[in-house]
This record gives sequence, C-alpha cells and structure tokens, in this order.
Amino acid sequence: MSTEAEQAKPRIQEPLGDWITIPFNKPYLSGQETAYITQAVTSGKISGDGQFTKKCHKYFEARYGFQKCLLTTSCTDALEMAAILINIQPGDEVIIPSFTFVSTVNAFVLRGAKIVFADSQSGFPNMDVTGLEALITARTRAIVPVHYAGVACDMDGIMSLAAKYDLYVIEDAAQAIDSFYKGRPLGGIGHLAAFSFHETKNIISGEGGMLVINDPKFNERAEIIREKGTNRSKFYRGEVDKYGWVDIGSSFLPSDIIAAFLYAQLENLDRIQDKRKAIWERYDQRLKPLETDGKMILPKVSPDATNNAHMYFVVTSDIETRTALIAYLKEQNILPVFHYLSLHKSPYFEGKHDGRDLPNSDKYTECLLRLPFFYELTFEQVDLISDLILAFFRDRK
Ligand SMILES: *Cc1c(COP(=O)(O)O)cnc(C)c1O
Repeated sequence: MSTEAEQAKPRIQEPLGDWITIPFNKPYLSGQETAYITQAVTSGKISGDGQFTKKCHKYFEARYGFQKCLLTTSCTDALEMAAILINIQPGDEVIIPSFTFVSTVNAFVLRGAKIVFADSQSGFPNMDVTGLEALITARTRAIVPVHYAGVACDMDGIMSLAAKYDLYVIEDAAQAIDSFYKGRPLGGIGHLAAFSFHETKNIISGEGGMLVINDPKFNERAEIIREKGTNRSKFYRGEVDKYGWVDIGSSFLPSDIIAAFLYAQLENLDRIQDKRKAIWERYDQRLKPLETDGKMILPKVSPDATNNAHMYFVVTSDIETRTALIAYLKEQNILPVFHYLSLHKSPYFEGKHDGRDLPNSDKYTECLLRLPFFYELTFEQVDLISDLILAFFRDRK
C-alpha cells in the first residue's frame, strides 16, 4: 500500500514499462552464461585454467594482439600481481592519479610503496601529464595511468617519460575494454595492464579481472605468482615433473565457472558495445544544449582516443548544483551517482600526502556526476533523464 505522499510524487517513468526506479547500473546477461556455466560444471574441471579460461585468454590475445593474458579474480588482484611482478620494495615511489579507485593505489601500498599522487587534467579526469616529470625522483619506479571512463590517457607522453627515467607503466584499464589510443588497444601499451569484469563494467563476470603482460620477461613469473608461488602451470604443461614453492604468490586465478560466464559475454562484445555507444550518443545529443548554455560540462574524448561508452558523466559548476541535481533526479526515482573522492584527502592517506594541492582531482570529486548507464537502458529512459536535467536547469535561477 502506498502512502499519500508517495502517490503525490510524480510517476513519470510508469508508461515506459515496469521500472519503478531507473537504477545506476543493471548487469546484462547476453544469453549463454548459464549454459556455459553448466558446461564448465559438467566438464569435471571447475578450478582455475580450465577450458573456458583458455578460451578467454585466446579471445583477448587474438582480438587485441595482447602478448599474454591471465584471468584473475578481480582487477584489484591483477594490480596486486603487477606490483609484485615489478618488484616494488618499501620506499619505492609510484605515481598514481588521486582521482581513482582505491585498488589502483592499495596494490602498491601493500608492497610498501610511497604513493605520489598526480592531479587530473582540467578538461578530463585522466592524469595530467604536464606536471608529471616534476614528480619523478631517483626512487620513482612506476607510473600507473587510469583510463577514466575507458578514455585513453596521454600514453605517448607517459611512455616517453617512462623510457627517459627507466620506469614501468602499469595501465589501470579496469574501465577500458575495447578502447583505443592512436589505434592501439588500451591495456596493450604499458608494460602491464589490469582489466575488470566487475558487474559495473561493460563486459562482466560478477567479480573478475585480467592481467595483460606486454613485456614477455614477466610471463614465467606471472604464472608462478598467480599459482601461490608455485610452478604448477609448468607442471600441468608437462614442462617439469614435480611442482614446488619457487617464489611469493597468492591465489589469483578464478574458477572456470567465472570464465564460462565471461566467455558468454565476450561472444557478444560487439553487440554490447554498439548498444552502449548508441546510449552514450543519445545522452550527449540530448544534453548538448546545457553545455552550449554554460550550465554543465559534458565529456570530451581527445582525438587520439576512442570512447568505449563505459559511462556517461557530466560536470556541474559546483557541489551545491550537483547535490541539488542528485536530489531532484532521486525524487523522480532516477539514481545518478557521484564518483571517487580524492585519495590524497582520504582518511587513510591525508597525513601521508606531501601537501600539494590537486585542484582538478578535487573538482571531479565535488562536481562529477555519473548518469544511469547500462545495456538495457532504453532511449525513452535516456530522453526522460535528459529532459529532467534540462528542466532542473530551466527551473533553477
Ligand atoms: C572497477 C575498477 C577497479 C577494480 O576492479 P575490481 O575488478 O572490482 O577489482 C580498479 N580500478 C578502476 C579504475 C576501476 O574502475
């Protein structure tokens, strides 16, 4: 039974179907997920590196030309593997944008690294390469660019600094599946890269991730670290006659059940991407007038990068406007969400930060808003959300 107050609320999305609420995300099942899971289960091998894991590795290596791929239980785990692989030692410095997910940073903090936070660009949340060289010291070991919203960072700038100072580059490509920089796939440019298949990403397996190795010198050790520090992978291939403890490691490989789910998604990657891009374009067209009127900033993809339609975000002029817009849309049962909180100001890191101001990171912390975005979002819903945002700014004096 609904209360009077609830009945008085506008119910605009009712004619559009059975949505009570337009959520921020809704995981999409492409069709074969449960059939492949059944196949994995009945095959009798459901631990890691089974038939579906191998199919996924082959898919990525063939489609994007990645030198070597290893599925992991999450992108977080792939980043932790990367930190172990490049031998991060206590006191080593790693440069990471402050406007990112905690996992990008935790992976290196767990190895004892000193984190040096970089600011975002003023026009896009990606790492600002202009200020990067000044952050490099004799102790710097790595740069970790995060391709925000699946849009490439300035990889030429980052790779040339890395070459000049002999640093590793680890791409946090969690959001960057099927996206490119000057024609090269993201995840294929740095020495190592980490992808995510968390249910909020374009291609999903619930939880899941992948390490991409672009420098073959890491191949052998990566297999060992992923298998609890043992050479079990070599043993399975018959390359050694017993396996043992040869290095540090952990259990980073997912069950083949997870890979079965993921493979069903990969078979539909083009269809999923086409639909997501159409949704993205629709938002962009409908919201354009707000940018023309100077009310909001819409995402700009640099000409060197592609847009993989991971998310649609807007940037308001201040936090008050964003708070009011969130409340306004929530009133209409639409759930937009803001994103990262500058990590250099986080409770854990605040006291460890070197005191530099990172104004662009703070701007995105306060003003960036992500709109509902998922495969099954209809054009009618995109239009409704856009019209409501237009109405919000029309009514706001
Ligand atoms: C989602 C995400 C992660 C973490 O991915 P998990 O698979 O959930 O561990 C890391 N970095 C970025 C930028 C992300 O968007």
